[in-house]
Amino acid sequence: MFQKVLIANRGEIAVRIIRACREMGIQSVAVYSTADADSMHVELADEAYCIGGPKSADSYLKIDQIIAAAEVANVDAIHPGYGFLAENAHFNEVCRESGFEFIGPSASAMDKLGDKNTARSMAIASKVPVVPGSDGLIDDDQAAIGIAQEIGFPVLIKATAGGGGKGMRVAEDVDSLANALSQARKEAQAAFGNGGVYLERYVTSPRHVEVQVIADTHGNVCHLFERDCSVQRRHQKLIEEAPSPNLPAEKRAAICEAAVRMIRGADYSNAGTVEFIVDQNDDFFFIEVNARIQVEHPVTEMITGVDLIKEQIRVAAGEKLSFCQDDVTITGHAIECRINAENPDKNFMPNPGKIQRFYAPGGFGVRFDSHAYGGYTVPQHYDSMIGKLIVHRPTRDEAIATMRRALAEVITDGISTTAKFHDAVLQHPEFVSGKHDTKFVEREFTGN
Ligand code: ADP
Repeated sequence: MFQKVLIANRGEIAVRIIRACREMGIQSVAVYSTADADSMHVELADEAYCIGGPKSADSYLKIDQIIAAAEVANVDAIHPGYGFLAENAHFNEVCRESGFEFIGPSASAMDKLGDKNTARSMAIASKVPVVPGSDGLIDDDQAAIGIAQEIGFPVLIKATAGGGGKGMRVAEDVDSLANALSQARKEAQAAFGNGGVYLERYVTSPRHVEVQVIADTHGNVCHLFERDCSVQRRHQKLIEEAPSPNLPAEKRAAICEAAVRMIRGADYSNAGTVEFIVDQNDDFFFIEVNARIQVEHPVTEMITGVDLIKEQIRVAAGEKLSFCQDDVTITGHAIECRINAENPDKNFMPNPGKIQRFYAPGGFGVRFDSHAYGGYTVPQHYDSMIGKLIVHRPTRDEAIATMRRALAEVITDGISTTAKFHDAVLQHPEFVSGKHDTKFVEREFTGN
């Protein structure tokens, strides 16, 4: 097993990984920007190294600085967390070439799955259902019209290098297709340096359902059931839950089995998520694989009892998974609300600043994964998430009640958060029914 692990990240996920390391008897090494000198991950790690200025490009994205810190600290492995360099196949390769195990899949699996069109072809090869769409990338507008008519309007144009909803455009009809194609190509080229796009049928009123998988390097692949992340705003997830409400048992079995098939076919190890959209008939279609740990992993941990970060570290060190598929069962229901330093009354404007007085909710069934504390200044340079409030109760209704109670306990004097907004969502009859789709928040709350 590793003696020392460097965490190439910040915020709550760095704290989460440090906690797992400590429980496993592994020394943890933090890296930080000058804007994060007072951050909790720096305080809690066994060692910490400043790697540059406040901008991510000057610190958390600086591969040479991170590798230099790993060399000075003499670590065995690097955990990338999520965001920043977590899905950068080049960073993955540099870590390994520099003699540090990368806690994640191989660089080649990451590279292939990171290209959405390639991942889509891999899904087809593994007999995993995909949304009807083009057979590869689209270069010719005239051909695109024929394909779009075949799959049926509206169609969704997707960037093969896409992420965070960028380079995605809906075209309602033939007339708007050419314009939407050129806009999507331009946006993708600017954001990712790759203007490749493909077409999919635009599924109306979908739910977002994703399956957590984990594989070791000995050929064992297990799923840990699914999460529903349909409460989204502008393709950003706000609330996640496990299991997915109203998913029939046979669909659950089929979607989890499809995810395992996909991961086996990709020659993948470590934790990953296979994302699907589910239509109104409960039919599911593959959309992408996230080759990293995700923000919403705790809801899966709560219902299965598996510590995903520890398991990631174990399989990266070459150990076998500590459980087999038959050991994994669902107990109760878990919900996570992302607490962001944003003002929901002002169109979710980021609201960085000093937290004068802070209280973290607790009590029976409550987990709060956060790096915030009283007197902490939320920097303006990074993601606005200051914590994740997670509840685990025997039923979904009880989980909603516990979450509403815990949200009311969040005190962050000095900055606004999304806590009140979450409370409004949790009371909404559509959310309570569990029948909400990915457009629910935009339709019912924000008007955009
Ligand atoms: P990104 O990586 O940019 O986030 P995804 O492929 O994960 O893009 O899609 C993001 C969101 O867009 C999904 O959660 C879903 O809500 C929506 N989406 C993706 N594909 C489709 C589709 N074919 N039809 C309808 N909505 C879709």
